[in-house]
Amino acid sequence: MPEVDILSLKKTAHREGATRFIFNSLSQENIAHVVDLTSNNLHGECSCQHFQMRVKPMIKQGLLDPYSEKARCKHIRAARHLFYEDVIREYVKVNKIEIDDLY
Ligand SMILES: [Zn+2]
Repeated sequence: MPEVDILSLKKTAHREGATRFIFNSLSQENIAHVVDLTSNNLHGECSCQHFQMRVKPMIKQGLLDPYSEKARCKHIRAARHLFYEDVIREYVKVNKIEIDDLY
């Protein structure tokens, strides 16, 4: 998935706790996809049709490695990206690491 898609998805994200994210659909009004990064044995789960109807059954049947990128819909990928940003920010703070501010 091109990086621009993750960036536009990130703009639609709402947080519902540290590991839960809600993405308003870019194509359908009044539709939202919920990602819980702790579900699915910590691989993440999404309520979107693609994940529920295609990805999840393939993981359950052992046809798809849950660690592979194909096992993550675009919402899970965007949520992991957002979560990673939180973690690195917190890590820098907790460890009092000096950073070069590029912006
Ligand atoms: Zn999804």
